[in-house]
Order: sequence, then C-alpha cells, then structure tokens
Amino acid sequence: SVVVAMAMDLAANTRVGFIGAGQMAEAIARGLDRSGLVPADRMYASDVNVSRTQVFESLGTSICSSNSKLAENSNVLILAVKPQAAEKVVTEMRPSLSKDHLLVSIAAGIPIKKLQVWAGDARIVRVMPNVNCLVGETAAGMSLGKTATPADSDLVATMFGSLGKIHVVDERLLNAVTGVSGSGPAYIFMAIEALADGGVASGLTRDVAMSLAAQTVLGSAKMVLESKKHPGELKDMVTSPAGTTIAGVRELEERGFRSALINAVLAGTKRGEELA
Ligand code: NAD
Repeated sequence: SVVVAMAMDLAANTRVGFIGAGQMAEAIARGLDRSGLVPADRMYASDVNVSRTQVFESLGTSICSSNSKLAENSNVLILAVKPQAAEKVVTEMRPSLSKDHLLVSIAAGIPIKKLQVWAGDARIVRVMPNVNCLVGETAAGMSLGKTATPADSDLVATMFGSLGKIHVVDERLLNAVTGVSGSGPAYIFMAIEALADGGVASGLTRDVAMSLAAQTVLGSAKMVLESKKHPGELKDMVTSPAGTTIAGVRELEERGFRSALINAVLAGTKRGEELA
C-alpha cells in the first residue's frame, strides 16, 4: 500500500543504534527486522554485557565497542538502558551527539526536559512501550521533544507500529499511558491466572484451564478491536436471560470488578507522577 511504501521510504536511510542491548532492545530489533522496515544490517548495538552483544551479533547486527561509536554509526538512537543508568550514559555520549541524531528514549519516567539537557542538540522522542513488544503486540504512547520534526514523529510511529500500536500524547499524559498499557499487562496476567484457577476449581486440568483463559483474553481483545463494537454491547451479546454469564457478571459487579480496574489505572498513573 501507499502507506507502507511511504514508511519504507522513511526508514530507508535510517541506521538504528541500540544504547543497551537488553530485553526491550532485542524485542524492538527483532520487530524492525521481521517487518523489513529496518533490516538487521542497518542496526547497531552497544552494551557493557558481552552476552547481550552476542545476542545482537546473532541477529546480524553490528556491535559497537562504545556508545560514542554507536552515535557515529547511527542516526536514530534507541535509549534502552535502565532509567537509573540514563543520565550517565547520555551525558557521556553528548560530545558525539548532534542535531542530526534522533534520540528515542524508552526509559520509564525520564522526562524529555532532562533528556534534552543531557543530550545537547539531539532531537528527542520519548516512548512508553510495554512488555508485549516481545510478541509484537505492544500498546505504546509517544511524545515529541521541542525540536523533533513531523518526520521524526512519523518514523517513530512507523517503527513502533511494526511492534504493535502507538499513539501520540502530551508528555504529561505518558503516566496515564503507563497506568493503562504499561502496567496493564500485569493486571491481565493476574486475570488470566485467576480465570485458570477458577477453571481448576471447577475440575479442569491446569493446562487446559490456562489455555482456555489466555485464549479467551486474546479473542475478546480481538473482538473489541476488530468488531469496533463497544465492549458493553459485546458483553450484552453473550449474556442470555437467566443464563450462566449474567450470573458471573453479577458476581463481578458485587465485588467491584470495574472500579477495581479503574482504581488500579489511577494508582499506577499517580505512582508514575511521584517517580518523575
Ligand atoms: P534490560 O536490563 O534487559 O536492558 C538494559 C541493558 O542495558 C542491559 O543489557 C545492560 O547490560 C545495558 N547497559 C547497562 N549500562 C550500559 C551502558 N553504560 N552502556 C550500554 N549498555 C548498558 O532492561 P529492559 O527491560 O530491556 O529495559 C530497558 C528500558 O526499557 C528501561 O529503561 C525500562 O524503563 C524501559 N521499559 C521497559 C519495559 C519492560 O516491560 N521491560 C516497558 C517500558 C519501558
């Protein structure tokens, strides 16, 4: 399609460097390579841990012996070290960074303002992805630094679009993104575990109960995304009069299921604000 062609064009001159070759960096690198958007031979990585650079080498990625060398080889840099390491790493790289670099930070909680001070002239985009990057189904938010361009925005949206879905939001709302999709996987993992426990309590084997529970969450999410129907309408579709499902729905309502989730999102958002 035209959109895909434009995206490929956008990415054609992109050399992506991973500052830190950890779990998230690997997920992003695999996604970019798999989608064909940025092939492994246009990716670079540096990490203080040799076992991590070996993983990237096996993907076909060039390894740089320092973060500064990485900056010399790449025009898009993904900051993928732990948040506590970010200041030291970016400050040390600063002499090698210029306005020709786009620094994409996935470090949780680090404001663009700080990144900009540490990085000097580099353009900044901040992304809040989630762990589901690992299976190509992330739900992410992104915000642009002052000097980031519409082309930067398109490029980052396209890159993370190859790993799931991404939305542009005001930076102040990135904590809300954290509350919903950053922390959300943990809530859903708990829901899957609990559904499976219910199945086991009802007599199913653990394996069967777990598969039924996880597949039910996957399919229900697809129903919401693909049918474009409101989840309330979908719920009404499966609750027949005096049936089994409405009996369970009533139990969930009595236990405050919906307000528990709403409050969980608000609690995560608030905690993100405290940490910033
Ligand atoms: P990770 O520990 O797997 O990766 C970090 C890597 O950075 C490690 O391999 C480490 O050796 C390397 N590193 C440390 N110091 C370095 C240095 N000076 N130079 C180069 N490399 C160095 O962590 P991760 O889970 O991949 O998380 C990376 C970032 O992604 C974090 O900032 C985190 O906040 C963010 N993030 C993670 C998730 C998640 O679900 N894991 C979600 C959203 C955001």
